[in-house]
Amino acid sequence: MFKNMFRSGCFVRTAHVILTWLTTLVLFLHNTDLRKCQERGDLLHPVMFSALVLLSVLLYFTVSLMDPGFVLSDDDTKVNRNVKSVFRKHLAEVKPTAICGLFQGAPVVRDEELEKMIPQEHCSVKQRRCGFCFLLQPMRARHCRTCQRCVRRFDHHCPWIDNCVGERNHRWFLLYLCVQFAAVCWALQAAWSGVVFASSWQQWFSRNGFLLGAIAVTGVFSVVVLLLLCIHLYLASANTTTWEFMSRHRIVYLKHRDSEDNPFDRGVVCNLWDFFCVCRTVAWERIYSRHANGTV
Ligand SMILES: [Zn+2]
Ligand SMILES: [Zn+2]
Repeated sequence: MFKNMFRSGCFVRTAHVILTWLTTLVLFLHNTDLRKCQERGDLLHPVMFSALVLLSVLLYFTVSLMDPGFVLSDDDTKVNRNVKSVFRKHLAEVKPTAICGLFQGAPVVRDEELEKMIPQEHCSVKQRRCGFCFLLQPMRARHCRTCQRCVRRFDHHCPWIDNCVGERNHRWFLLYLCVQFAAVCWALQAAWSGVVFASSWQQWFSRNGFLLGAIAVTGVFSVVVLLLLCIHLYLASANTTTWEFMSRHRIVYLKHRDSEDNPFDRGVVCNLWDFFCVCRTVAWERIYSRHANGTV
C-alpha cells in the first residue's frame, strides 16, 4: 500500500504540502517578525508571505502534475510530422521521372518507407526506437523508467515532484525553484527573528524547539533549491539538459563532438528566450543538421 502511495506521488505531494503549511504555522504561532506585524495590524508582510507560499505550492503542483513532454506515438510526434512534411514537399518539387523509380507500383507512401527515404541532411543522426516503449525517439528524448514513458528534451526525473522534467515543464520547474527559493529564504529569516534567549539550555530548547525545526527545514531547502536554481539557470542559458551534461559520452549525437561543442546552443540570450518564451515542440533534428552543415 505504502509502495503504491509513494509510486503515485501522493506521499511526496502530501509531505510537501504538510511540511510547507506546518512551517508557515510555526512562524505565525511564535513571536516572529511576521507575527509582530500581524499584531501591529500591519498585514502587508504576512499577506505577501502567505501569498508567496501559496504560489510556491501551486507551482509545485503545476510542475508535478503536468505533462513533461511525453512522446505519445510515432505518428503523433510533431518532429516526425515536420520532417515528413519537409520530405513530401521535397518529393513534390522533384520531377515525376525522377521519383517514378522510387514508387514503382506503390501509389501510397507508407510512413516506414517515408522514414527510410528522408533525405540525409534532415536526419544526420538516425532516429532510434526506444527499447522499452518501442516508440521512435525524437532527438534529445529519453525513456524514464520511473514514468515508463519517453520524454522529449529529457532533463531528469525529480523524485520530489514525482515527475519528469522535460520539454514542456522545464521552464515551470525553474520558475517554481525561483518562487520556492524566495519563500524559504523569507521563512528562514522569519524563523530566526523569533528565536528568544533563555536562562538555561533546557528552557531555550523548550521555547525555541519548533522554530529550530523550521530553521533546519528552511535552511536545508534554501541550500538545495539555490543549488538547483543555479544549475538549471546555467543549463537553460547553454541550451543543454542535466542528462546531456552528465552523460555526454553515452549520447549518440554528442559523444563524437568536442566537449565545448553544443549543436543546440544559439547564444545565451536566444537560449533563454527560447527556453522561457517558446512553447512549441522543437524539431531538434533540423537544428542539429543545420549546425552540422554549418548553416547556423
Ligand atoms: Zn520509451
Ligand atoms: Zn520520469
